Parts: sequence; C-alpha cells; structure tokens
Amino acid sequence: MNIDLQNLQTVTEQNLQQVQQLFDEYQREAFTQRSPEFFCLELCGEAGELANLEKKKWKGKDIQHSAIADEAADVMIALLNYSNARGIDLGIAVRDKLIRIEEKRSALADKGELY
Ligand SMILES: [Mg+2]
Repeated sequence: MNIDLQNLQTVTEQNLQQVQQLFDEYQREAFTQRSPEFFCLELCGEAGELANLEKKKWKGKDIQHSAIADEAADVMIALLNYSNARGIDLGIAVRDKLIRIEEKRSALADKGELY
C-alpha cells in the first residue's frame, strides 16, 4: 500500500478538530443553542434528503450534481453540530476508527481476503 496511513490519521485528526471547533464558535455566536437530540434528528433528516436524491437519480431522474452536493453539505454540517452538542471530538473519533479499520483490513489482507 502506497498511502501513508500515519499521515492520513494525523491530517484527519488535526483538520477535523479545527473545522469542528470553528463550526462550534459559529453555531454558538449565530444560532439558537440546540440539544444533541435535535441535531441527531436533523442529521437523520438531512441524510434522508440526500438518500432521496440518490434514489431519484438511481431511478433515472435528472438530478443536478449541485443538489446532491448541497445535501451532502447539510449532512456534514449536521454531523458537526451534533458532535459539538454531544461533546464528541470527531478528529479523534475518526482517527481511532481509521486505526481500527486498518487493523481489520490488514488482518484480512494477510489471509488473502478483502475488507
Ligand atoms: Mg437538506
């Protein structure tokens, strides 16, 4: 494998933490405080909107790429707001998940299987 996994983990952790912190400051300054439960429901709603567009595209409807990108952005923002409200450090959580995924993947690869 040519990817520097350590670098991926470090860059992911540091950049996600920075983005999440800036979103937290923006949310606190500009919007009403909401509970983690509110943001979790919002996240599910936005993911549903994204899924609905993909379903329509899959069925052959002409869905603009910009519309899908807009919903993907909603999902990301909702996840950031949820994580901030719930006290989840996404940088660390994603870094740790990447480590566990790679442990599983490489163990399977050693046996000649795909993850
Ligand atoms: Mg939306």
